[in-house]
Amino acid sequence: MEKIRMTTPLVEMDGDEMTRVLWAMIKEKLIEPFVDLKTEYYDLGLLHRNETGDAVTVEAAEATKKYGVAVKCATITPNRQRMEEYPELTEMWKSPNGTIRAILDGTVFRAPILIPAIRPVVRNWKAPITIARHAYGDVYRCVEMKTEGPGEAFLTFRGDDGTEQTLSVQRVEGGAVWQGSHNKDASIRSFARSCFQYAADTRQDLWFSTKDTISKVYDGRFKEIFEEEFENWRARFEELGITYFYTLIDDAVARVIRSPGGFIWACKNYDGDVMSDMVSTAFGSLAMMTSVLVSPDGNYEYEAAHGTVTRHYYRWLKGEETSTNPIATIFAWSGALRKRGEKDGLSDLCAFGDRLEQACLDVLNSGCMTKDLVGLAEPGVEVHAVNSAEFLDRIAARLQELL
Ligand code: NAP
Ligand code: MG
Repeated sequence: MEKIRMTTPLVEMDGDEMTRVLWAMIKEKLIEPFVDLKTEYYDLGLLHRNETGDAVTVEAAEATKKYGVAVKCATITPNRQRMEEYPELTEMWKSPNGTIRAILDGTVFRAPILIPAIRPVVRNWKAPITIARHAYGDVYRCVEMKTEGPGEAFLTFRGDDGTEQTLSVQRVEGGAVWQGSHNKDASIRSFARSCFQYAADTRQDLWFSTKDTISKVYDGRFKEIFEEEFENWRARFEELGITYFYTLIDDAVARVIRSPGGFIWACKNYDGDVMSDMVSTAFGSLAMMTSVLVSPDGNYEYEAAHGTVTRHYYRWLKGEETSTNPIATIFAWSGALRKRGEKDGLSDLCAFGDRLEQACLDVLNSGCMTKDLVGLAEPGVEVHAVNSAEFLDRIAARLQELL
């Protein structure tokens, strides 16, 4: 069989621990036998980030801007415990995802992969709900203060042009706590653009929610900017038969639970943090959650939502068998290859992405799955657990049939 052609390289970002092990297996068993794979490889493994003073992460993000599509393996974000585990680390390097997101100015979209054997806790959810979380500002960039005794707090903005605006926050008669948070027009606008772009790309309705009845200026500004940006997309949305829908966050929560799913829910930073955990838990498993970073100018970085699965890696190092779920990482590859195909007009490459996903779903639907999913299967579904290598071999065999 002739291999499927690529014209532009994918930006490939390798990572850490168990997902790095799976990464190599996925390429070897599921991609390279079928695709004449072209990638520009960046090793974002912790030790290589350390050797390059983290320059490799920046270079990988810059390459994503240049080529437009990247696929990323999960990576370790070092903390104190990791500093002890890897004494050669010269610094507690920042989260690669944070660095890449800042350079691409992107928004992360998380969506679950659904299979009939595992039904969402919310019975009427029939299609995935994608959460888009704004990743800048609000309570995550606030300043806080605690005071004792009576007094009054003010909020002051001092413009570089010498102008000043001041508001009284509150007068208090005893101890109190205070919080100053902000967001930037530019960041909200990028968020809105990424959301409209991704909704058009995936042909899904876009919902957006804030609490602008209470927060008339702050949340009101989010609503306003989304409305302004929507004007640039209105015609395209009509053409695609999709809608933009704004509602209050509490109304959105009620509607989401009663909905059949199948839309994108854009959330402010804190709402997105909370709601993405709720939605992903209700859909089943973190190992079945995909994630894509979309920049406002249409660059894409695909990855799994989960981490490097450390416990499995240490068992694997001891030569023990592991049953780690590779599905979300495979879907990162299929998503990236399909997007590369779309951008380069290579329909065979797009079709390969679709078939690779179909092969995964067929194997899962046959009852063959990794251990993490077995306990989640509906009663009556006959399942058998396999290790990661066997699972990938089954997917490869099915893929061969589909091609
Ligand atoms: P994690 O790697 O997602 O794993 C948490 C637990 O979830 C695992 O121990 C495992 O449970 C289960 N799990 C997750 N993915 C699975 C899969 N594919 N198959 C089977 N089980 C799976 O999260 P973590 O332990 O909090 O973080 C580990 C490292 O990953 C950290 O260094 C963190 O910095 C990094 N991280 C990276 C990213 C990223 O690059 N996007 C995201 C999150 C975390 P059992 O052990 O019970 O089987
Ligand atoms: Mg959280």
